[in-house]
Amino acid sequence: MRRVLLVTGARVLDLDGDVDHPAEADILVIDGKIAAVQRDIDAAVKAGNPPAELLGRTVDEVIDARGKLVVPGFVNAHYHSHDVLLKGCFDSMPLEQWFMVALPPAYPKRNEREVRARTLLGAVECLRSGITTVQDLATIYPYDATHLDVALKAYDDVGIRCVFAIQVADVRGGESVPFWNEVVPEEMRGSLSGAVEPFDQPVLDLLRNAIADHRGKHPRISWALGPSAPERCTEPLLRGLADLSREEAIPVFTHIYESKATTLIARQEHSRDGGSLIAYLARCGLLNERLTLAHSVWMQPTEIEHNRDAKANVVLNPVSNLCLRNGIAPIRLYADSGVNAALGCDNCSCSGCQNMFQAMKMYASLAAVSNPEPGGPGAVDAIAAATLNGARSIGMAGRVGAVKPGMAADFSIIDLSDPSFVPLNSAARQLVFSEAGRGVETVIVDGNVVVRNRKVVTIDEAALYAEVNELMKPLMRDVADVKKRVAKLTPYLDEAARRALAIDLGINRYIQP
Ligand SMILES: [Zn+2]
Repeated sequence: MRRVLLVTGARVLDLDGDVDHPAEADILVIDGKIAAVQRDIDAAVKAGNPPAELLGRTVDEVIDARGKLVVPGFVNAHYHSHDVLLKGCFDSMPLEQWFMVALPPAYPKRNEREVRARTLLGAVECLRSGITTVQDLATIYPYDATHLDVALKAYDDVGIRCVFAIQVADVRGGESVPFWNEVVPEEMRGSLSGAVEPFDQPVLDLLRNAIADHRGKHPRISWALGPSAPERCTEPLLRGLADLSREEAIPVFTHIYESKATTLIARQEHSRDGGSLIAYLARCGLLNERLTLAHSVWMQPTEIEHNRDAKANVVLNPVSNLCLRNGIAPIRLYADSGVNAALGCDNCSCSGCQNMFQAMKMYASLAAVSNPEPGGPGAVDAIAAATLNGARSIGMAGRVGAVKPGMAADFSIIDLSDPSFVPLNSAARQLVFSEAGRGVETVIVDGNVVVRNRKVVTIDEAALYAEVNELMKPLMRDVADVKKRVAKLTPYLDEAARRALAIDLGINRYIQP
């Protein structure tokens, strides 16, 4: 049932207004949309003189937000629900080794209870840190349409907005990482696996059917396509995805140039495209405004310009990149180039958490590693990356990402009496550099209160945590088995990683003393 909600007396962060001491206003929400943001709506209602938008309706709930800050809901533009239960299982390690210990192809098939629990848990963590939209590039491997139904139902139940994509590939993991096939003994190669492995049914048919089966059934879920990475997909698959993206007018999310090794494979295997995965994507018809390139750490300056000209987006994941030893993306190059750059938190099993405050702080701070000259990005740029730029990357520009009339009512209410905001010198800077998520009290998605007093109210959090603890017993046995198997491979994987690191690619994303 749609409702009328009135949030009163908050300071409302507007990147076009005073970002240090945002003006106080009331926010009128009608049927999931922001109808008005202005002073004294509450007073006018009480005086029997409601604004025109309210005619014929009554206010169902008033939230007193005096002393609080209203912030647009964050768009977590790169995330995966499949390994949420593996947070805390691994120390920092190279990306390609992490594929082998953390991702679904290395594990036995999971059950429906686990798929529901992991999807809910990831969404709960997102919501409680002010993320109202998440792009889930989910690996459902081996593919099972029931697991897809379970994951989408979990998103419906918890109430977060989700842009859902099934991660696909048709090149085996062992073929898409440099030197694996050279250094790993033949008898052990069967246990090499990547982020996702080829399905045993035609991928494009599977995706068309999945989209058709779920069309119109989920009010806050929209579809995207998820080729795992260009080097893990053949040309026919990428061309088919380009056609599907155009027919359905849906975005495409892929990983690109995440590690040095995944960049080296481009030079080794894509000579036809001059060693450029961007040129490969362009040739396959995917390089356009619907495409978002996750990571983009090892992108060359000429490729960044190519992206900008094609209006493709990037989504930077600075915490994940540090944990998986990928180096640091040239943030300043992106900020200065005009490429639309969003932010993401990536997997729980590498970056550890779903927290856009961490991502924003890293974005604004790490930029100086590759360019210490005076200049941005500053706090406002980081907030824009986490909101407006994220909205553009998911094809929702003008619909989410700001607290303004006409936009979806997706926002958080943050406690300004938290030490992070005392004294209040600049709401924007303190949001990026001081807040860590502790102050997020209330979260509203699509006009519904989904977090109240720091708890998700759409599901039973305590019951979820009890369920997760039950599920961990068999899962931890599988983790132990996987770790034991990978331990035997580790000397070879380390050697492959060393060989990749030793090669000069003409660009560098590490600091070498
Ligand atoms: Zn990812």
